[in-house]
Amino acid sequence: MRPINPALRAVNGSHQVLIVGGGAAGIAVAASLMSRDSHLDVAIIDPAQLHYYQPGWTLVGGGVFSAESTVRSMASLIPKGVTWIRNAVSQFEPDNNALVLDDGRVLAYDQLIVCPGLKLDWAAIDGLPQALGNNGVTSNYRYDLAPYTWQQVQQLRQGQALFSQPPMPIKCAGAPQKALYLSCDHWLRHGRLGAINASFMNAGGVLFGVADYVPALMEYIRKYAIDLNFGHNLVAVDGPGKRATFVRILADGSQQTLERAFDLLHVVPPQCAPDFIRHSPLADAAGWIDVDPGSLRHTRFVNIHGLGDATNTSNAKTAAAARKQAPVVANNVLVALKRLTRLAEYDGYGSCPLTVERGKIVLAEFTYGGKLAPSFPNWLLDGRQPTRRAWWLKERLLPPLYWRGMLKGHEWLAQPTLTMDTPKT
Ligand SMILES: Cc1cc2nc3c(=O)[nH]c(=O)nc-3n(C[C@H](O)[C@H](O)[C@H](O)COP(=O)(O)OP(=O)(O)OC[C@H]3O[C@@H](n4cnc5c(N)ncnc54)[C@H](O)[C@@H]3O)c2cc1C
Repeated sequence: MRPINPALRAVNGSHQVLIVGGGAAGIAVAASLMSRDSHLDVAIIDPAQLHYYQPGWTLVGGGVFSAESTVRSMASLIPKGVTWIRNAVSQFEPDNNALVLDDGRVLAYDQLIVCPGLKLDWAAIDGLPQALGNNGVTSNYRYDLAPYTWQQVQQLRQGQALFSQPPMPIKCAGAPQKALYLSCDHWLRHGRLGAINASFMNAGGVLFGVADYVPALMEYIRKYAIDLNFGHNLVAVDGPGKRATFVRILADGSQQTLERAFDLLHVVPPQCAPDFIRHSPLADAAGWIDVDPGSLRHTRFVNIHGLGDATNTSNAKTAAAARKQAPVVANNVLVALKRLTRLAEYDGYGSCPLTVERGKIVLAEFTYGGKLAPSFPNWLLDGRQPTRRAWWLKERLLPPLYWRGMLKGHEWLAQPTLTMDTPKT
């Protein structure tokens, strides 16, 4: 018997476990559930026909990967035995253990896992949507534009190259500067860096949120003679005029507006929770899914769980985080279904491979509170230094780890930590 109130609505279908979103987190958690219990009745709701390996887009923008190598059909990734519902969720009714799809159908669940990623808010920057893809305005945050980044980087001979970073939180906080360093490396190797001036226009106040990695990054800022600006928030783009407008907050709290001419502009858009999450009972005050940082269970609804970019946990929003979160959520959903007894706990692991030059990476790996959490001993790979090994990891090891490990429920480098806690109901 499902605990739904039939008086409220007619229910069009029900599943033991419903998963909202079939991205990195959704496919991984479905695979982890099925690898624990292949008889579960699990459905993934996602309207997208394609699934992207977004961590690859930095290397597309750097001319290393083809865009095509970062995409697969959603159908090919849905784990065996899992139902795919090709629709979007528009509303949640957690008190009725039900949700509403875009086409009006109502689905009920015993356990709900919510992982629809975040919203890239391109329209929050005046003129940006029209400007993208022309006049040197680009972004590695879009599949179709990452190849344009590489084309523009190769074509640029001289002038001003601007790289923007919006206020936090964003997914892969290092990605704005990855684009910056890989572009500068190309220009340096081709003897153009004197004629091209690169500027990093960062809305935040630090180069990277975990201080241990900043010295290595600063070496590259100096090496490429990058004009480093903090507190500069991109608010408008004039593509044909090739001008970008920034708002700068001064020490006394007043604002200054300034315009910069550009020949190349790499934009990272502001990011927020998707509208249907922000306006739902699942959201916290800032709009993100409100979960317990350890169990990833919703703070108010005991049969709802969240993971991936859409939650309000303070980890780095990365696929690496989703890789560690998925087994935790799978375990805890099975505890809720009384199939397992011990809860698992997520430690806030996230990772950001900072591509400081072609062939070398500073590999940031850390848990909640910015505590370093290297996957390898320092003698093998010191993440605080630029290394060829970390590049090899990013280029050769992480894509198969994603496609063949994480999305298949193998949980390589992601075994969950079990606690002695029994669940609170
Ligand atoms: C340029 C770039 C570089 C990055 N580099 C790295 C890196 O080096 N390392 C790393 O670990 N991570 C990196 N990331 C971040 C990583 O890609 C994300 O953190 C990860 O994809 C988050 O997974 P997710 O499942 O939460 O969201 P997504 O993978 O974005 O998937 C969300 C899914 O939800 C679906 N959805 C949305 N709305 C609805 C709805 N209403 N109903 C149903 N389904 C819905 C979408 O169609 C989509 O399939 C990078 C990202 C970018 C853009």
